[in-house]
Amino acid sequence: MDYLPIFLDLKGRPCLVVGGGEIALRKVVNLQRAGAAIRIVSPRLAEPLSRLAERQGITHLPRAFEDGDLEGVQLVVAATDERAVNRRIAALARERRIPVNVVDAPEECSFIMPSIIDRSPVIVAVSTGTASPVLARLLRTRLEALIPAAYGRLGELCARYRDRVKARFPDRRERRRFWERVLQGSLAEQVFSGHLEEADAAIERDLFAAPSSGVGEVYLVGSGPGDPDLLTFRALRLMQQADVVVYDRLVASPILDLVRPDARRIYAGKERNNHVMRQEEINRLLADLAKEGHRVLRLKGGDPFIFGRGGEEIDTLAEEGIPFQVVPGITAASGCATYTGIPLTHRDYAQSVTFVTGHLKDGTMNLNWEQLAQPNQTIVFYMGLVGLAVIVEKLTEHGVPPDMPVALVQQGTTQMQRVYSGTLANILEVVERDPPKPPTLIIVGEVVKLRERLSWFNAPLHPRQGATTPVVTGS
Ligand code: SAH
Repeated sequence: MDYLPIFLDLKGRPCLVVGGGEIALRKVVNLQRAGAAIRIVSPRLAEPLSRLAERQGITHLPRAFEDGDLEGVQLVVAATDERAVNRRIAALARERRIPVNVVDAPEECSFIMPSIIDRSPVIVAVSTGTASPVLARLLRTRLEALIPAAYGRLGELCARYRDRVKARFPDRRERRRFWERVLQGSLAEQVFSGHLEEADAAIERDLFAAPSSGVGEVYLVGSGPGDPDLLTFRALRLMQQADVVVYDRLVASPILDLVRPDARRIYAGKERNNHVMRQEEINRLLADLAKEGHRVLRLKGGDPFIFGRGGEEIDTLAEEGIPFQVVPGITAASGCATYTGIPLTHRDYAQSVTFVTGHLKDGTMNLNWEQLAQPNQTIVFYMGLVGLAVIVEKLTEHGVPPDMPVALVQQGTTQMQRVYSGTLANILEVVERDPPKPPTLIIVGEVVKLRERLSWFNAPLHPRQGATTPVVTGS
């Protein structure tokens, strides 16, 4: 982070703006909105600024800058069109430890001003540092559209009830819950649509409603295969609500970064043969945390109901009457296939797709190989890396031709995505040269051939997708 965003209280504080042009005007407008006691020093003021100064009773000294102008000033903006003057003001201000902003010269600033979305008391500030004011402005425009003007009214309502809510819920956690309930429910909608009296009545009701049973809730959430862009809106919302998160190895760290920062994090492990916690322990933990009143996020890779043991986890919750919700995620097969340009079904090559587990039990896989060896289908093996040799042997034994295309997708959809491609006959050789790391998904079927033709479609959209992926081939 190149700059620390902070919000200054400038009400009634003496602030100096040197310069009288258009840029000075913009700075004066913002300072004035923040209630600063502004003084402008400039031989001349351009028309809109002189009008504003007059209307708002802003002091204007019609002369050039003098060193003494910095006396007693708490913040200064140098906005003249003479570089040397600006530089001098900056140097003097720094000497006196007065925060200084110099227009168009970030290297001379001790602070920079962000783009602002003003929904007072809600204020959103956007900055790209010195990289691109245009990008900051574009972002601001997007946020303007996202944050209705009525957020200001919502903010005012919060301010109005702040003390009463604090008195009613002395416990911080309970208070936070109250606000989350209020701000995410129908009350916010009432405020947005201008029904302020109804909103007041609702908050009064809620404030004195009977206390809840104290039992929390569990959110079993699929976080997709790795790229945070593939999270659902609901997943993201719950990630930002939960106060405890129980996650396993498959959850990528850029996704964990989106969990509420003050949430407690518990790692549940689950690597092959290295389970930090046994499944029964996880089931128990989720139930116990919820009973303590927490909102527990159980974050899983991909989809919780596809080789995710999600069913077992909610079984315990259901048995003990603990409220829960399950949020589907994009499963590894979908993510990896799309990001490598392999359509899982195709009118000409595969009329069905089967997801199977390639997990070895006692050195073998108990699968219906007869069926998996049939033509015109795609088979996706989860957890198949260790058992790859068994997969190759069994499919060959059951009559799948040796030239059947096979792809291995390692860490699909992430920055580390890598594809190994070959055929049933040579894939073991391909991986032997440079063994893939888990998690890796195995795709077997004619559709794998389409990768070369289709992967470029994805490339321009997403640098991590398609053609830019490193590929290890067997041919
Ligand atoms: N519930 C998960 C699957 C869990 S089983 C889902 O729906 O995706 C774990 C297996 O999933 C791994 O052994 C691997 O085969 C596959 N997998 C998960 N994420 C992956 C990724 N990003 N890239 C490749 N394979 C992945």
